[in-house]
Amino acid sequence: MHLYLHVPFCARRCSYCDFAIAVRRDVPARRFVDQLLREWRGWAGSDRFPGAAPLATIYFGGGTPSLLDPVELARLLAALRAERPLGAGAEVTLEANPDDVTPAAAAAWSAAGINRVSLGVQSFDPAVLAWMHRTHTAAQVPEAVRVLRAAGITNLSLDLIYALPEALDRDWGADLDRALALAPDHLSLYGLTVESQTPLGRWVARGAALPPPEERYANEFLTARERLTAAGFRHYEVSNYARPGREAVHNSAYWRRAPYLGLGPSAHSAVGVHRWWNRREYAAWAAAIESAATTVEAAEQLDPDAVRVEDLYLGLRTDAGLEAATLPGSLVQLWAGHGWARAAGGRVCLTGEGWLRLDALVAQAAGIPHPGVTDLS
Ligand code: SF4
Repeated sequence: MHLYLHVPFCARRCSYCDFAIAVRRDVPARRFVDQLLREWRGWAGSDRFPGAAPLATIYFGGGTPSLLDPVELARLLAALRAERPLGAGAEVTLEANPDDVTPAAAAAWSAAGINRVSLGVQSFDPAVLAWMHRTHTAAQVPEAVRVLRAAGITNLSLDLIYALPEALDRDWGADLDRALALAPDHLSLYGLTVESQTPLGRWVARGAALPPPEERYANEFLTARERLTAAGFRHYEVSNYARPGREAVHNSAYWRRAPYLGLGPSAHSAVGVHRWWNRREYAAWAAAIESAATTVEAAEQLDPDAVRVEDLYLGLRTDAGLEAATLPGSLVQLWAGHGWARAAGGRVCLTGEGWLRLDALVAQAAGIPHPGVTDLS
């Protein structure tokens, strides 16, 4: 069983962010942890999660989980462990913003059992960080890395965002160099998307910002792939790179269709063909907990067609790929001919060029409409 806990609180909203967050100066950590534990106890041992299988991974995502009072985070982890064993060597990840990483916080996280931190870096360029409305400075990143390692948290991942508007004149290669200089174990790279309900979406709508041209996305995706693989990282999933043995165990569970339980506002859960997701807004989720109502906003059961599409998507997004026999030979030949896929050892894996077309290739394999499919013949 894999456990995801969504901590929705943020100090302010980043310009590009459309996650389910609650901007709070004072985080109601004690009440929130009590609410999470109530939600946990409603699911643990239920029909969906019978028995007492150990927790293989725990992942605190957000929002900004590093804003939670470390004392409350430790209380939450201790309560979970008292009720459900942690598997041997279980990965316990905390997403953190660099400005929250102090020696005292890092020591408390380590003592509480956090053994992996994913740092939201995004860029090392001060102008870019200001444009993004990030709360940290570039100088706080190496300091956070040093402090975490000194506290014994040595499994570190860095998040960066690429494909920024041209007007920012961001030097992607320089940011990759700065990240590599910190010798991280793992990197997650996300292309910027413009969502209408964000400050960036509003800037674009009134012409105050221009989204980047598509070539920038492709060029920076391929530049990162070349640089990071040359530096010894494995590009094991479309957005993720790891040193050997440092692949994210929790995220990999999603891509293997392992069962996971999500707690907190907007958290998603999956067991077999069942999917369900929580109320998105913190206030609505908290009100449901307090009134002993369900926190689930909606649920669905995948039919065989949906399972096939999901299998295609999950398989093709990782470097494990798919069994070749699950795809028509003509399609594999077509993809290989364009340099989008490689077939070897009875499996088909997408190349970097293929991952740039992931959605369209999945749609083509599944025989479902997609605007990009017409360009794929
Ligand atoms: S810190 Fe993360 S979750 Fe919070 S607003 Fe920024 S991008 Fe969104």
